[in-house]
Amino acid sequence: IAEIAKTSPTVAALVEKEYNRQKNNVELIASENYCSEAVLAACGSCLSWKYAEGYPAKPVDRHSGNKGRYYGGTRYVDELEEYCCDKWREVFNTDYHVNVQPHSGSQANFAAYNAVLEPGDTILSLNLDNGGHLTHGSSVNFSGKFFDVHFYNVDDNGFIDMEDLEKKAKELQPKLILTGASAYSRIIDFEKFAEIAKSVDALFMVDMAHIAGLVAGGVHPSPFGYADIITTTTHKTLRGPRGGMIFCREELAKKIDSAVFPFAQGGPLEHIIAGKAVCAEEALRPEFKEYAAQVVKNCAAFADEMLKLGYTIVTGGTDNHVFLIDLSDKAFSGKDLQNACDEVGITLNKNCVPNEKRSPMQTSGVRVGTAPMTTRGFVEEDFIEVAHRIDEVVKKLDAEKAAEAK
Ligand code: PLP
Repeated sequence: IAEIAKTSPTVAALVEKEYNRQKNNVELIASENYCSEAVLAACGSCLSWKYAEGYPAKPVDRHSGNKGRYYGGTRYVDELEEYCCDKWREVFNTDYHVNVQPHSGSQANFAAYNAVLEPGDTILSLNLDNGGHLTHGSSVNFSGKFFDVHFYNVDDNGFIDMEDLEKKAKELQPKLILTGASAYSRIIDFEKFAEIAKSVDALFMVDMAHIAGLVAGGVHPSPFGYADIITTTTHKTLRGPRGGMIFCREELAKKIDSAVFPFAQGGPLEHIIAGKAVCAEEALRPEFKEYAAQVVKNCAAFADEMLKLGYTIVTGGTDNHVFLIDLSDKAFSGKDLQNACDEVGITLNKNCVPNEKRSPMQTSGVRVGTAPMTTRGFVEEDFIEVAHRIDEVVKKLDAEKAAEAK
């Protein structure tokens, strides 16, 4: 911060304020985390300004002409990018091809669709209101504009409705079946998905952005071996830098690579690739398995306490790092609770619930996750206390709404 302040006191002051906010608040945003100093240092390194459009040259060509790249001076970033790919294959214990260049999860998905689909092709995915992501076919996103996206739903209890999926897969004969979510608290049955995809000759893609750290830590079943393409972000449960990655079966490697570069992106962010490599090494340590297991235990304890306090949790609980508190029967919205929690130093976000009646700007739910605070050392008892703090905020909102109604 002192370095920034020498040039821009304004930027330095804002970074410091945000640092303190992150340090002093209870951070419950399910898609966020804190990365290590080592990841941060790699991301702030001199690789930041190295251009390296293309892909690493084969080692034999590396010192004599940079065959895989469109720029010179790439021998070290070539080595780095290959090292990063190898480490990620090790993390997920897979021989899938991996591309570590996507700048974000959205760009990973953009490239993945375009690698295997033509505009107008049919995708079957989980609705945004039911826990899916914007890039899984929302009408305001490229995915919904360029492709013919249909949705399978969750059932009345909030679980992915496999019968609905199977029925729609048979009816629609989609080219791609997609699963993965931003707000789904249960284990996803990748084997069953793959079976249904195979039965209709569709490609099967998993966007494991939210659960990637749990898969790496062995506390969520792995999609490897089942999915043809797997996309992820690196900054959620994986605790890495902001970014994306794509894994695929070897036969799709060329298509995936050219859909990332030159189709979707220009030069890769080699400093972020360095951060991704450091993140992979952290994920390979035994401590990471302990971390992932604690994230899940914390989430279960947190959800249990909310249930005991009388709240409705979508699906009645959680198997992973996230759950949704359903406020449909309340006189206030998810947005109201988000704002009121902000006032007392609890950061969470409003979220639609299945069969949402309010607008996406208001919502009838909030989403909470345990990944960031577990990084900061929270255990079950801490989350039980957090549940009580949220309950206090809710009671205050209840009282305010009751007073307004008089
Ligand atoms: N996929 C899923 C399931 C996500 O939850 C997210 C982000 O929240 C993304 C993709 C997009 O990631 P990014 O914000 O890096 O574009």
